Amino acid sequence: MSDTDTLIRHFILDGRRRLDTFERSLFHEKLRSPARDNYTKLFEETPEEALAYCEKYLRKAKKCNAPASAISSIQSSTGCWELGTAKSPRRIKLLGVSDYLYRFISLTLTATLPYDGEVVRHLCNNRICIRPDHLKIGSVGENKMDDILNAYAGGINKGA
Ligand SMILES: [Zn+2]
Repeated sequence: MSDTDTLIRHFILDGRRRLDTFERSLFHEKLRSPARDNYTKLFEETPEEALAYCEKYLRKAKKCNAPASAISSIQSSTGCWELGTAKSPRRIKLLGVSDYLYRFISLTLTATLPYDGEVVRHLCNNRICIRPDHLKIGSVGENKMDDILNAYAGGINKGA
């Protein structure tokens, strides 16, 4: 098995462990939205299909070499896994869930439901990257801070 295969296996196993222990929060009913309902259904009823979908695209993504040198502290030092184009990052539709692929992968593998004001941030600042450890769920404010730090470090801002 290649290093990439091992890594994908690890991401999927980790995601399965989190989905296995997924539980609705105390505020579930209060926070309901169509997007949350769709993800809830996916996590509770068809977690294996969701994981298979993640695995398929993680395999399919173009594996880029690690950047020669990190230009800022938040720049990742491992290579991105890319799908789609900067203008139109890949979107997916699966069992009622419609979303950007990178958001789908990040939410599914961490068993996190979307909530108001949440954004999936690209630590690598590369919007078409779907590599799970380059993605982090955070707030809109944190995402803006990423942009500012990147601009400050002279990085090219490719958006969230
Ligand atoms: Zn990346």
